[in-house]
Amino acid sequence: MDAGEKVAKLIPHWQNGDMLEVDTRRLKNRLGYFQIGPDDADAIREIHEIIDPMIDEIVSIFYAQIGNFNNLNRIISQHSSPEKLKKTFRRFVLEMGINIDTAAYAESRLKVGVVHAHIGLNPHWYLGAYSNLQGILSDVIMEACGNNHERCRQLNGILSRVIMFESALGIDAYHLNTVSKLHDSLDQAKKLEKILQVSARTDGLTGVLNKKAFLEELQLELDRSRRYSHPMALLFIDFDHFKMLNDTHGHQLGDTVLQRSVQTILKTIRTSDIIGRYGGEEFVIALVECTAEDAYSTAERIRRNIAGNVIQTRRADVVVPVTVSIGLHVPTPQQRKAATVLRYADRALYVAKNGGRNRVCVFTPDMMK
Ligand code: GH3
Ligand code: MG
Ligand code: MG
Repeated sequence: MDAGEKVAKLIPHWQNGDMLEVDTRRLKNRLGYFQIGPDDADAIREIHEIIDPMIDEIVSIFYAQIGNFNNLNRIISQHSSPEKLKKTFRRFVLEMGINIDTAAYAESRLKVGVVHAHIGLNPHWYLGAYSNLQGILSDVIMEACGNNHERCRQLNGILSRVIMFESALGIDAYHLNTVSKLHDSLDQAKKLEKILQVSARTDGLTGVLNKKAFLEELQLELDRSRRYSHPMALLFIDFDHFKMLNDTHGHQLGDTVLQRSVQTILKTIRTSDIIGRYGGEEFVIALVECTAEDAYSTAERIRRNIAGNVIQTRRADVVVPVTVSIGLHVPTPQQRKAATVLRYADRALYVAKNGGRNRVCVFTPDMMK
């Protein structure tokens, strides 16, 4: 894995190449802006001839300065051992400015910034570290140059520009790290919003639509079926003597019966059909693109399948009888409102109950009398 891939792994949103200013043309531009060009390669090499032999001393002066700041020490020691850090820092100094015009260089420097941003080190510490490093290196260069003021001025000039360039990359890393975190929380917020949207429309016990969502969907389906002259049908389902079932076997078993029965219904209807919990032990189904005959046979199948479910209590020999009554209504083109068609289906359900329960009744206008 090269440095660029490591950066992309740490900050997934960086995979967008635009954000990483590491393509060679843009990099050259940026170096130009910091007045660092190919002619400076010699000076950079000269700087290394001076500082590399002094590297151990440079590292220990740098870490002695950090030692004065307790909170900085705490953050760093939580994430790395002093030996490992010193080794990394040593390499960082030894590589400074060498091949500065390559994408690999910019990427590896960006990565250093990203790692620091990730461990929660504030940018002011990061910039402070660059400033301290510059101070230490500048002293070493001055001492090496002795009375050669011109050479001293020239080497310190390029040193300062390289350090500025590196700190700018560091700030980029922090900035992009923040943007990436914002993207992450935005993604999470969007996911959460979707979950909330779904749960606001769903019945918690059975997972079908709740009453409000069902009414919305039913209205849309009524509009659609009228516009395209497609037949549709409505079923109003109510469990028989459910109060007694609860009283005899407990509310929890009642809940299980509702869940199991919904699963049975879902296996009987098509995925394009719309099912909702109207309330308590009452369920409603819009059978989409369904003729009156097909609707009746579907309703019968639902009734039979539910009655055929074997629901056992904790005592293996006790089987709970579960039946439903169903009111069926096929809306006429004139019936445009969800509430109206539901009223008719409910009326047919009432007749089914009165007729002895465990049956399907089709709405007829005389039922309204
Ligand atoms: P009928 O055959 O006339 O419909 O009689 P019923 O007992 O089913 O009707 P009733 O309206 O008197 O009682 C409905 C029962 O359904 C009462 C209520 O406690 C129960 N019920 C409603 N919602 C739930 C639920 O979520 N879980 C359980 N276990 N029971 C529920
Ligand atoms: Mg009821
Ligand atoms: Mg009931």
